[in-house]
Amino acid sequence: MSENRIDKDIKFKVTKKAVIAGLGWFGMFLGIATWRAIATGYMGYYIIFGYIGFGVGVGSFLSESLTKKYKQWGRRVSQILVGLFMLGLLGLLGRENMQIEGFYFYLIAGVFHGATLHYFIAKIVGPMFFGRAWCSWACWTMMVLDLFPWKKPTEGRRQGWGVWRYIHFGVATAVIFWLVYKTGYSPAEHQASELTWLVVGNIVYYSLAIILAALLKDNRAFCKYVCPIPVFQKVLSRFSPMKQEIDMGKCTECGLCERVCLMDIKLLSYLHEGKRVLSTECILCDSCLHICPTDAIKTTNGIDVGFKEYINMR
Ligand code: SF4
Ligand code: SF4
Ligand code: SF4
Repeated sequence: MSENRIDKDIKFKVTKKAVIAGLGWFGMFLGIATWRAIATGYMGYYIIFGYIGFGVGVGSFLSESLTKKYKQWGRRVSQILVGLFMLGLLGLLGRENMQIEGFYFYLIAGVFHGATLHYFIAKIVGPMFFGRAWCSWACWTMMVLDLFPWKKPTEGRRQGWGVWRYIHFGVATAVIFWLVYKTGYSPAEHQASELTWLVVGNIVYYSLAIILAALLKDNRAFCKYVCPIPVFQKVLSRFSPMKQEIDMGKCTECGLCERVCLMDIKLLSYLHEGKRVLSTECILCDSCLHICPTDAIKTTNGIDVGFKEYINMR
């Protein structure tokens, strides 16, 4: 197909695979919109999910079309298009609290819209089909944090610190249930409070994420130690058919993929066991895939279950 040279470094090649990837994601989100529109009669889902599908679709198309060095731009474009829309339009302007507290409030109220729908698709059931792609292609917290300079973790993870994400999850859950069932707090009666929860929650998240990134020299430190969302995602993402796979015949064991992995995964340990990258820490960012000098890594579809975590620790 066509190839256009933009400048001496950046090459842009439109391939059939790139078009299928872009349209595939767009079509998938239109399918979700149709499901919700039929179930509720609300046609606005076509705008919401159509836009999200457009954002991810454009990102996937770019990722497939650009030369290796610039492929990560695709993911970044998707992250910005979807992240800004979710936080800015649906959250701040639409006054929907998409934080974990908002999810619980909607859940308790029996509402399957806004935060509950978002959690269902991106964070609870969706990961069974597309792993933790939310974390690299759409999350609005990392949309900002990925701009910071500490893109490649240098020393591995701190032993034992991962427990804080479970503590955070437990405390957030307990506080919400205590508020609702013990104090009679009802966010439905305080519409304005949705916005307060969202704004305060995000200020706390961004602040913590920036402080941790600077202290540990790792943009993704917040994801690894504090964010409660992986507690949901990791349950079903282990069954996802979409995982990274290393071709043993092409791999020279140069170790580059492990050095760039945003999540400190020891990819070669999976290769040595003859398995795909089964770690539930994988966020499908494709950094490993794009850096591999022999093109040994591909995102493939298959049937296997992640249960063993090979993580590089300090
Ligand atoms: S772990 Fe949390 S902060 Fe990190 S990308 Fe995923 S949802 Fe966003
Ligand atoms: S970067 Fe590629 S060749 Fe190098 S170890 Fe990873 S998979 Fe193998
Ligand atoms: S294994 Fe590859 S795709 Fe998964 S988090 Fe690491 S670099 Fe990203």
